[in-house]
Amino acid sequence: MWYELDVNDRFVAVSNNWDALSAAANVPGNMFEAIRYRPIWEFVVGDETQRFLRAMFFLARSKRRDITLPYQLDGIGENSHFRMRIEPLQQGGLLVAHDPERRNASPPQLVSYAANDLTRCSQCLRIGIDGVWYTAEPTQDLASHSNWCVCCQCKENALSLVQEMREPPVASYARAGFSKY
Ligand SMILES: [Zn+2]
Repeated sequence: MWYELDVNDRFVAVSNNWDALSAAANVPGNMFEAIRYRPIWEFVVGDETQRFLRAMFFLARSKRRDITLPYQLDGIGENSHFRMRIEPLQQGGLLVAHDPERRNASPPQLVSYAANDLTRCSQCLRIGIDGVWYTAEPTQDLASHSNWCVCCQCKENALSLVQEMREPPVASYARAGFSKY
């Protein structure tokens, strides 16, 4: 499943299976006709998650490199691991693909928590309690009660991905010169 964003982060194209998946997930508001030319930020919950994704979009565009981020989806059981791949396109556009990631997930470690004012990581879904992050599978839909942020581990993972993207000076120089035509 993928979508294409223009230079202003607005939806301009989606994969063929997009509408079918939106219907199956019972979110008709996500159908392409409803989201076309609307910025993705209208659909990203949480200021910190927005800042995190904006930084990743910026890096993909400015470094002209793909970025792949692992993340999890809420409440769908075992196959909840996904990869988000951000690929720069011409004229500042981005192709963003979400694909399932097969892995042998360890059983979630259940923690007790209050249903209100949960701090959760939007990338790995862990729950933060007093600075410690716990893997947990909420037993009910807590998305609307959650205060979505990005945990230190996910920020560190993204940072190390970005650092791996640094290239030898010769390659950077050659590309920098090329982009000027
Ligand atoms: Zn996290």
